[in-house]
Amino acid sequence: MELSQLNEKLKELSIKDKLTGLYNRHKTDEELNRVYYNFQKYGKTFSILLIDIDKFKNINDTYGHLVGDKVLEKLANIFKNTLRKTDIPSRWGGEEFLIILPETDLQGAYNIAEKLRKKVENTEFPENIKLTISIGVGNINEYNTIKELLNETDNKLYKAKKQGRNKTIK
Ligand code: GH3
Ligand code: MG
Ligand code: MG
Repeated sequence: MELSQLNEKLKELSIKDKLTGLYNRHKTDEELNRVYYNFQKYGKTFSILLIDIDKFKNINDTYGHLVGDKVLEKLANIFKNTLRKTDIPSRWGGEEFLIILPETDLQGAYNIAEKLRKKVENTEFPENIKLTISIGVGNINEYNTIKELLNETDNKLYKAKKQGRNKTIK
């Protein structure tokens, strides 16, 4: 492999999650800082979605970890194929995803979240598995820091779970 190819490969490994090909948490932190800078400096708003698979443990327990991995890959593809070019999907943790929606207000973000939620609900995953996701939606205008935005959006995700799952809370 040539040095330039090796550099490319290393760069990709440092910013992407291997299983899904989505940005990893490190890169997403950088992207959050970037859109937050644009918000503070130019007043450009942005929203985020925090997405967690409902009862994913059951899928692993029933079908095994490898099938669970395939489900994660397919879910990532749904995100990639449904979102706009400027949106930034990422794997935030094991079965949790964070999506940055630049220049999108709270209602706009809610609409995108609902589109994703319904698409997942209507998709057949490997082994004919059906699954649902819960989503918290947050817009930066309501908060003072990225940390606050993340915490409050996580609280909304928690609320979506408590209200029975397969839900979006804004
Ligand atoms: P809830 O609806 O409350 O979110 O229930 P849950 O079962 O999804 O939540 P819980 O946190 O109990 O389980 C998450 C599971 O996700 C457990 C863990 O094994 C699985 N998981 C996390 N990362 C991966 C992965 O990379 N591959 C696979 N196959 N499973 C993963
Ligand atoms: Mg989870
Ligand atoms: Mg879960």
